[in-house]
Amino acid sequence: MHELSVVESLLSLALKNAEEANARRILSINIVVGDYTGVVEEAMSLYFGFLSKDTIAAGARINYTHVPAQLRCRDCDILLPLGRRDYRCPRCEGRRVEIVGGRELYIEAMEVE
Ligand SMILES: [Zn+2]
Repeated sequence: MHELSVVESLLSLALKNAEEANARRILSINIVVGDYTGVVEEAMSLYFGFLSKDTIAAGARINYTHVPAQLRCRDCDILLPLGRRDYRCPRCEGRRVEIVGGRELYIEAMEVE
């Protein structure tokens, strides 16, 4: 579980941005979460509520945008079907696959007043 440290850094970034915009309150935060980050959104929301309690982000709505995991075969240059547990290319049977999507974890937008 690394959600606590993730939320800590996202929250401090959000507070910094809000401060620079002279905002009095953060209403909502949109967070992009890739499947490969292993982050559990429920846990993030829980930590967020706890950590933001005494800040201007208290009560902010957290929206998540999901980015699915995506693998690519380096030899065939094709994208592998999603949701496979077997990291083998269906065309060449090779294992030279790389992750090309799903590692995203950042604040996409936020609403302040
Ligand atoms: Zn291949």
